[in-house]
Amino acid sequence: MSAIQENLLPGVNIDAVTRAAHSELVANRRYLHAHPEVGMETHETAQYVESQLQSYGLQTERSAQTGVISLVDSGKPGPTVMLRADIDALPITEETSHEYVSQNVGKMHACGHDTHAAMQLAVSRRLQNEGIGRGRIKLLYQPGEEGHHGAQKMIEDGALKSPDVTVAYGQHIWAGCPTGQIQISGGPVMAAVDTVRIVIHGKGTHAAFPHGGNDPIYCGAQIITALQSIVSRNIDPLKSAVITVSEFHAGTAHNIIPPHAKLTMSVRVFEKDVHQVLKRRIHEVVNGIADSLGCDADIDYSHEQVATVNDHRVAELVREEAIAIVGAANVTDDQQTMGAEDFSDFLAEVPGAFAFIGAANTAKECIYPHHHPKFNIDEDAMAIGNELMYRVANRLLAEY
Ligand SMILES: [Zn+2]
Ligand SMILES: [Zn+2]
Repeated sequence: MSAIQENLLPGVNIDAVTRAAHSELVANRRYLHAHPEVGMETHETAQYVESQLQSYGLQTERSAQTGVISLVDSGKPGPTVMLRADIDALPITEETSHEYVSQNVGKMHACGHDTHAAMQLAVSRRLQNEGIGRGRIKLLYQPGEEGHHGAQKMIEDGALKSPDVTVAYGQHIWAGCPTGQIQISGGPVMAAVDTVRIVIHGKGTHAAFPHGGNDPIYCGAQIITALQSIVSRNIDPLKSAVITVSEFHAGTAHNIIPPHAKLTMSVRVFEKDVHQVLKRRIHEVVNGIADSLGCDADIDYSHEQVATVNDHRVAELVREEAIAIVGAANVTDDQQTMGAEDFSDFLAEVPGAFAFIGAANTAKECIYPHHHPKFNIDEDAMAIGNELMYRVANRLLAEY
């Protein structure tokens, strides 16, 4: 075992404690990977996390029922630094053949949240063992990241209060770049998401006599086409936005023009001013086209997730620690993705940052994207995440 740890990531600046902790980290990750739970139903995962934390001598409490919070307290004045790992899996049937394959059929850790929990457990243990010089470290283990608003539920349950969180840090294992690279930048890094549901009310009639009705399918087709003009004609070409119509349902038979059609769309954006333009133009385009074709449109516009916006000072501090571990050539600031992350809800309340830990490795067949049934990560990358989270925690304690 010691030979493996000495050979772990040669050339990467991870210390002896991180190397020594790696086999336990891998074991925790594999246990969690084999026992995935979805959404807010992370009952056994929370129990496992609690039992690990308690074995390190830490006390635990529940938040939002299936979330876990623990505190490393110096007993001295100073900031409260929050570290967060999400712990939920996805409703996907795993298609890998490794020995720690999911034992819960239809559920899979296909986003890497098993690695997040395992890395943060290693950091929790080390901070508790070594003690901290000032302030407190608040350790959050959060369910329901994958569209179940787990972060918001923990916030509503007081996770950011008593003691009040000063600054927050989180990280995502990342299939989008290779092991040995870290992505971190200040400002918006992951998108805000809106879901828009539209019902077009036309006038049904016989397919042979279209002039007797108002065709909601034709209206919907015009709307879909015109919506694509918003990003190309109304948004500054140097800014980013996505409008994807992801569902279009209408009709029952070949000889009927139906009375209704339904559209669902996903809207993604980073910046507030662009967001306002998108929302306004979607309403104008949908209502304008429906009106011109004798149809009515009901628009149900809901904000699913705010953008994940990194504080520039925290991001710079994370970048310095990342460079100390993997070298400047392996730390990039091209972090922006149209994917979304509910760590954004914490960052809307307190300053902080969210980093990406590269974990793709072609030789180990870790080549599939997040949410793919063959998704897997290079476990060596978890040592980098362990080292980075530990260093960032101590920097934040010292400087806030
Ligand atoms: Zn995911
Ligand atoms: Zn994720």
